[in-house]
Amino acid sequence: MKIHEYQGKEILRKYGVAVPRGIPSFSVDEAIKAAQTLGGPVWVVKAQIHAGGRGKGGGVKVAKSLDEVKAHASNILGMQLVTHQTGPAGQKVRRLLIEEGADIKKELYVAVVTDRVSQRVCVMGSSEGGMDIEEVAATHPEKIHKVFVDPLAGFKDSEADELAAKIGVPAASIPQARAVLKGLYQAFWETDASLAEINPLILTGDGKVIALDAKWNFDSNALYRHPEIVEMRDLDEEDPAEIEASKYDLAYIQLDGNIGCLVNGAGLAMATMDTIKLYGAEPANFLDVGGGATTEKVTEAFKIMLGNPKVKAILVNIFGGIMRCDVIAEGVVAASRAVGLKVPLVVRMKGTNEDLGKKILAESGLPIITADTMAEAAQRVVDATKKA
Ligand code: ADP
Ligand code: MG
Repeated sequence: MKIHEYQGKEILRKYGVAVPRGIPSFSVDEAIKAAQTLGGPVWVVKAQIHAGGRGKGGGVKVAKSLDEVKAHASNILGMQLVTHQTGPAGQKVRRLLIEEGADIKKELYVAVVTDRVSQRVCVMGSSEGGMDIEEVAATHPEKIHKVFVDPLAGFKDSEADELAAKIGVPAASIPQARAVLKGLYQAFWETDASLAEINPLILTGDGKVIALDAKWNFDSNALYRHPEIVEMRDLDEEDPAEIEASKYDLAYIQLDGNIGCLVNGAGLAMATMDTIKLYGAEPANFLDVGGGATTEKVTEAFKIMLGNPKVKAILVNIFGGIMRCDVIAEGVVAASRAVGLKVPLVVRMKGTNEDLGKKILAESGLPIITADTMAEAAQRVVDATKKA
């Protein structure tokens, strides 16, 4: 789960990380009032969407008068902001952050992530802040410094100081940088985050260390123990189909292709998507119905997949382990009837009560195409999209 910059900065502030004074605003009037409350002479009007690259996309503007605050707020609120992280359609701006302008001498980068390879929390930093860190990683990997934190010892002062020095924090500002790095690490740890990123972390003209941006991702499997973070969720920023799916406990991610996939088990779902690609087509979604798919769940899954206008055919790939194939077959038949299925449907079932499942499909009178192997199923569903 993601949150907005202004919410991310609240968390940072609680953990002792210095951030500029700022006020979130939902209208142009609120933006002007916020600017008045903060006082001048310089403000920054910042679009709040769950994507980075807002500056380059025109979503971060400096204002030197209240009139300029008003002009920028009017332009940015309601705009369809396109950044390298939003995709070509962009994201509509519904919230702003009005912030005091900072005196930037140098822009740095710091972040905390979970590192799967070392199975540790990784604190990283770079002297190259403000820009795309992906680009720095690709062209100057030696400019990214990493500390893999020992979970028992925790993140040590010496490690924080060393990292700060490596990314170019001058000696006089090291204690402040230490407080930032340790606060960021502690916040990451206590909130069950998967990413906490400050880009840029700035050095000001008078040697202060301040977080100008804040990006957070939280582990959704741990949200049950963080109601205060769930409260920050902004459904406007999420895909409506994915929200609908989460209500039924379906793991659904919309993609760009035209073959809808309904699978049980995340691994099998990934393999099914790979097989579709192998046969020259693209999946329209990832969908894992989980272990206990009922008729109701399968029906909802069909509705969600068919809500995507790109879908030209559906592939159901089920491994009947605990889940019985006959139950799934009944679910598929009922769901097809309930939604008045118009696109070709290919079903592949293996495992417990497979023959009974196939019999139910055959006797349903529905034009269901069956397949025995993954390859056959993928081939048939790809062919079906070509005929459709
Ligand atoms: P994004 O990463 O989405 O582009 P940032 O919050 O990093 O958004 O802002 C982009 C740039 O705008 C920053 O790198 C910084 O140069 C400038 N900026 C952002 N906030 C302020 C501020 N409060 N004062 C001065 N400049 C700012
Ligand atoms: Mg940024």
